[in-house]
Amino acid sequence: MPSEKKKETDKPEKIKAGENMPAEAGMHAAVLEARRFGYEEIMRDCTLCPRNCHVDRLSGKKGYCGQTARIRAARAALHYWEEPCISGEKGSGAVFFSGCPLRCVFCQNSVIAEEGAGQEVSVERLAEIFLRLQTDGANNINLVTPTHFVPQTAAALRMAKRNGLRIPVVYNTGSYEKPETLKLMEGLVDIYLPDLKYGSAEPGKRYSNAPDYFETAASAIAEMVRQVPEAVFEEGEEGMALMKRGVIVRHLVLPGGSMDSRRVLRFLHETYGNRIYISIMNQYTPMRGLEGYPELNRRVGRRAYDRLIDFAIGLGIENGFIQEGGTAKESFVPLWDGTGL
Ligand code: SF4
Repeated sequence: MPSEKKKETDKPEKIKAGENMPAEAGMHAAVLEARRFGYEEIMRDCTLCPRNCHVDRLSGKKGYCGQTARIRAARAALHYWEEPCISGEKGSGAVFFSGCPLRCVFCQNSVIAEEGAGQEVSVERLAEIFLRLQTDGANNINLVTPTHFVPQTAAALRMAKRNGLRIPVVYNTGSYEKPETLKLMEGLVDIYLPDLKYGSAEPGKRYSNAPDYFETAASAIAEMVRQVPEAVFEEGEEGMALMKRGVIVRHLVLPGGSMDSRRVLRFLHETYGNRIYISIMNQYTPMRGLEGYPELNRRVGRRAYDRLIDFAIGLGIENGFIQEGGTAKESFVPLWDGTGL
């Protein structure tokens, strides 16, 4: 990982949000931004994530994540569907970034993750968005899939914090991450919300084109726990316990994936005990385009989910979240209409 050379205070260029800019002007703005905030070298030869594409994103090239150096997002709004200690009553201030380095075949957000729906925003605009979400009453800033925009997001967070951002920052990721990239976020993130999707190579290869997913995600989670080793909660205005610092690892149970889910839970408990929280999710919803994956074309049965919860309790997992009832509805996917950008 190249080191950052320039400091963001070096140059005072005024960068405009690039929503309606022609592509060339947008990339020129991206170069100025990268120089100003000190991440030009990183973007010229991108190895931010384990895909190691080595593309020059500042010249408009895109790697596996599908994104140039210009930040792109599809929505920035209060979001009520995270774990209760994240959403609270007032909602989490979620910024959904476009593109994804993982692109799982069953992704519920494939319109933004794979098809890249969204619009460009500058670093300055992103900082303003964080502050506006705080003014709107958000319990936290929730960065959803920021991996491929880490240097840009870190610059926006520093700017927002200098201008009064006080609420916790949540880093919400599929965990196909490099520890050295996560280190760029050290001190800026209060809560890590990583997935641990698979416990073995086969599903990582089949569903995410990442046979190294488990080892990679395990190293990423280790770095997150190193940065934020203890969970801290405070009672919010509505009387709910809200997380202020900590790590919650999510695992989405896949149909027919009970054995792999058990591997994931056993690994997390044996490695971290009750230092982390584990969220066992049953909201898997089959989306379109799964013709080649007939085993994924159904929901997870109630009994299979209950058996997995019994297994987790048997392991001794105490700090956890489970989902009650049928939460698997496609309507839970938000509108990717540029709200709040
Ligand atoms: S962030 Fe994107 S371009 Fe960079 S290595 Fe990862 S997938 Fe490739």
